[in-house]
Amino acid sequence: MDIFGAQEELSKLSYDELRTKAQSCKKCDLSKTRTKVVFGHGPVPCDLMLIGEGPGEKEDLQGLPFVGRAGQLLTQILASIDIDREKDIYITNIVKCRPPENRAPQAKETEACFPYLEAQIKLIKPKILLLAGAPSTKVVLKNEEPMSKIRGHWFKLPGTDINVMPLFHPSYLLRYPSKNEGSPKWLTWQDMKEVKNALDFIKKAKEMGEDR
Ligand code: URA
Ligand code: SF4
Repeated sequence: MDIFGAQEELSKLSYDELRTKAQSCKKCDLSKTRTKVVFGHGPVPCDLMLIGEGPGEKEDLQGLPFVGRAGQLLTQILASIDIDREKDIYITNIVKCRPPENRAPQAKETEACFPYLEAQIKLIKPKILLLAGAPSTKVVLKNEEPMSKIRGHWFKLPGTDINVMPLFHPSYLLRYPSKNEGSPKWLTWQDMKEVKNALDFIKKAKEMGEDR
């Protein structure tokens, strides 16, 4: 599988080798201000993968993705469809180092970091890839339509049969407490039910394959 023409050098590495390489990466200026590199967390390989924007303060200190307030909400959202964060999903970001003051990552940073993401996708081999927020949707799908339009829709990762769904970012959901019909939280709940159905389908297909 050659997703976007992955850099030869990185696509030959094992998961541990790739992570070790990222830990000392200085390919962009975010390396100057980071505390810890937040490479990603979860089982390898894994049917379900989620890509966020970039580490925040807590993530930078702990070296783990989505451990702050948005992360707590993400954990709840996943639990609502029976996804255990530790066992059932691999989580990472489009940049592995925290942008100062939590600003959005710049194009030169996401470009510098992209080969790691590409190599990760190859190793994780997700069947379903969730993109949290507009920046990761732009980088991975090259789609710049508004999130309100594309969230909850299925796409294919170009050149692969990986199913991709953009979702509202949990930080965005934190700004809208309402759970009323049509609210961002309600819409995300609909999206997650759809993801759950797709995962159940994949699980059943696997079990039937094993029975044969
Ligand atoms: N927001 C993100 O996009 N990623 C994290 O890891 C934490 C917060
Ligand atoms: Fe390297 Fe990515 Fe960190 Fe930039 S953000 S220093 S490319 S690991």
